[in-house]
Amino acid sequence: MSLWLKISLIVGSACFMEAFAWWAHKYIMHGWGWNWHADHHEPHDKTFEKNDLFVVVFGSFTAALIMIGIEWFEPLYYVGLGITLYGIMYSFVHDGLVHQRYPFHWFPKRGYWKRLVQAHKLHHATTCKEGAVSFGFVLAPDPQKLRVRLRELKERRRAAGSL
Ligand SMILES: [Zn+2]
Ligand SMILES: [Zn+2]
Repeated sequence: MSLWLKISLIVGSACFMEAFAWWAHKYIMHGWGWNWHADHHEPHDKTFEKNDLFVVVFGSFTAALIMIGIEWFEPLYYVGLGITLYGIMYSFVHDGLVHQRYPFHWFPKRGYWKRLVQAHKLHHATTCKEGAVSFGFVLAPDPQKLRVRLRELKERRRAAGSL
C-alpha cells in the first residue's frame, strides 16, 4: 500500500467518524439506546456513567478491526487507526474540555474551542431523549443558531403537550 493510500484511509475514516458519531448520537443514543445514554444527561457525582459502555462497545469494535487488519487485510488496520484518532479527538473535546473528566482543566475562552464547548453544553440543555440539538462532537454549529433551534423544539413540544 502506498503512503498516500494509508494517509487517505486514516484521514477519511476519522472524518467519516464525525458523521457516524452524529448519526449514532441522534438516532441510537437518543433513540433505542437511550437507556445507556440517559445518565449522561442527568447531574450526578459518579466517576463512570452507563453511557461509557458505548465507548467500550465502539472501542472493542475498533480493536477488532485493527487486529483483522494486522492479520488478514491491511486496509482495515489504517481504518482502525483513523477511528482511534477520532476517538482521541472526541475524548479530548467531549470528556476533557466539556465535561472536565480529566486531571487537566482548560476552559477555552475564545475561538473554535470555545464554540465546541458551547455547542455541546447546548446539547445538554435538555435532560430528556427528545428535543436536543447539536449531536456532533468535533464540528460545532453556530451556538446562536443552536439556541434558536432549541427554543423552536421546546415550543413545538409544548404545543404538542409533551412538556
Ligand atoms: Zn446526548
Ligand atoms: Zn456530553
